Amino acid sequence: MKKMTMLLVLAGVATACVRNPYAATNKVYRRQANAFARQLQAQPAAPADSLPATPYWVGTVNFNLRKPNYVIIHHTAQKSTEQTLKTFAQTKTQVSAHYVIGRDGQVYHLLSDYLRAWHGGVARWGSITDINSVSIGIELDNDGAEPFQDAQLASLLKVLGSLKRAYNIPVANFIGHGDIAPTRKSDPSAQFPWQKLAARGFGLWYDAAVLTDTTAAPFASDSLGRPLPGLTPAKPCALSATTPRICPPPSAPSSAILCKLIRARP
Ligand SMILES: [Zn+2]
Repeated sequence: MKKMTMLLVLAGVATACVRNPYAATNKVYRRQANAFARQLQAQPAAPADSLPATPYWVGTVNFNLRKPNYVIIHHTAQKSTEQTLKTFAQTKTQVSAHYVIGRDGQVYHLLSDYLRAWHGGVARWGSITDINSVSIGIELDNDGAEPFQDAQLASLLKVLGSLKRAYNIPVANFIGHGDIAPTRKSDPSAQFPWQKLAARGFGLWYDAAVLTDTTAAPFASDSLGRPLPGLTPAKPCALSATTPRICPPPSAPSSAILCKLIRARP
């Protein structure tokens, strides 16, 4: 028993020695989260003035929190995890993500999955224009040119697995920043192993047979048939040029691959 007490004391001392350089900004996080909690607890505002008032408020007793339904994967295009953590802890940058995964596989969970991170920017996926409101953002520490590390990918798969289970996220809803903002972004880079992820149930990949399919029509619209920003039927390869995931080998009909991927979506 004495030995156990001593071990606990030593463990406590060791923990106390790890100074958290983000103690001050963590305080800001808690303050902001508390402000949102108060907002959630408040009685909803009365409807517009022109509507007749009800005699009393009725709060339903059946509800829970809204859940994320998409996961957007990024590379940081920075030099280190530390640099990215600092970036996300400064208000002047106005950017954030829920998770940052280091090259060594260390996972930092920066924001509750139920809160909205600022990682998508101006983006669109199908008819969704507010990607940040429906998604989890994951940043992989990677400069954009280097290969992704095995330890990092192993951690990513674990995080993706737990998100998929927790929020019942469909296979096709694991996508990249380059997919939702093809004219501005290309992350995660062409080095990212989308095919491996698709084999594990995260995101889509095309069937090799599509490479011989030259019958598919040129692709320049989203799943609802509307033109994608920056793309015209005369420029069907633009999306694949900026979205490494669906960039085909030079000899392949890229538009056919794009069509196949889109058709694979539920
Ligand atoms: Zn990004």
